[in-house]
Amino acid sequence: MINFNVPPFTGKEIEYIKQAVENQKICGDGPFTQKCSEWIEERTKTSKCLLTTSCTHATELAALLANIKEGDEVIMPSFTFVSTADAFVLRGAKAVFVDIRPDTMNIDEKKIEAAITPNTKAIAPVHYAGIACEMDTIMEIAQKHNLMVIEDAAQCILAEYKNKALGTIGDFGCYSFHETKNLSMGEGGAILIRDEKYIEEAEIIREKGTNRSKYYRGLVDKYRWMNYGSSYLPSDMNAAYLWAQLQLADEITKARLIRWEQYNTLLQPLKDRGILELPTIPEGCTHNGHMYYAKAKDVQERTELLNFLKANGVWSVFHYVPLHSAPAGMKFGVFHGEDVYTTKESERLFRLPMYYTLTESDVNYVVSKVKEFYHV
Ligand SMILES: *Cc1c(COP(=O)(O)O)cnc(C)c1O
Repeated sequence: MINFNVPPFTGKEIEYIKQAVENQKICGDGPFTQKCSEWIEERTKTSKCLLTTSCTHATELAALLANIKEGDEVIMPSFTFVSTADAFVLRGAKAVFVDIRPDTMNIDEKKIEAAITPNTKAIAPVHYAGIACEMDTIMEIAQKHNLMVIEDAAQCILAEYKNKALGTIGDFGCYSFHETKNLSMGEGGAILIRDEKYIEEAEIIREKGTNRSKYYRGLVDKYRWMNYGSSYLPSDMNAAYLWAQLQLADEITKARLIRWEQYNTLLQPLKDRGILELPTIPEGCTHNGHMYYAKAKDVQERTELLNFLKANGVWSVFHYVPLHSAPAGMKFGVFHGEDVYTTKESERLFRLPMYYTLTESDVNYVVSKVKEFYHV
């Protein structure tokens, strides 16, 4: 049985969690949280990184910082995880879905401008599979129309667009460290803040609306309720798990990229015969091996393939059900323009097993079963 995902584990996690417990500092913003945020700031070259309890919460925090309100509109793809929309809908905004590009499954930057109205406040691009959206164009549109850009970079740790870390290009970037992502802390995430002017407000909202972060740094003599807020900081025990992962981040990414390339090479003959479509990495994009996906002919063929793989001990999955076709999507969102690719491509896409400890022979086996299904 080859699982679809195995949570990343390096061996040091338990030692660090033990240290966190012995530090008697298991709440948020302890020594491990600090180490992790500094590491991310250094590697991504962003002004500020704050660890959060999830990417969903990082996006909620970004929506609060962007002052998203009732009646505002936020442009995003429909082919994404629910959190991209949830964070804005929770503030009373409408999700305006724009079609994707079939080559990357990312929002089609050429279709964004037509969806802008006087109510549009932000664009939320999602970098699917750690492969960047066309950010130069998106940032140009945002500047021209005075819109905020909140990157859903959940899948993007150590992925880049033109040598810039994903999540650092827009006003805010949101990472996930859920167990299904490249690096994990169980449940967790981070918000990346590009402009320093938002740091203080972000710290306050993240800490229940108080200036406790400033108080801990000795900058004020008491902490008080300063603004609305929530509790978005993770326990230092979770950060301890993440710290072990960050220390091996390059190795983990490299291992995934090797498996990714292996899939890509071995599946090439199926692409050449027009059986499968394989992912495209546009020029200037450096991905992180987050996901290996491919596309079958249609939904029926995909179902048969996934069943065949399952019967042969390979756990392959599909996603996402486009948000605009889901009950909440119909209630809180609207699709702008024609759905040329979102539904059609989402029904063909499937993901093959991908995780840090996946072996060369695992990938050989998976591909051999895909080939067997297609009689290649
Ligand atoms: C995983 C994921 C999220 C949610 O991350 P959590 O940390 O579980 O909240 C959001 N968006 C995308 C694109 C994701 O892949």
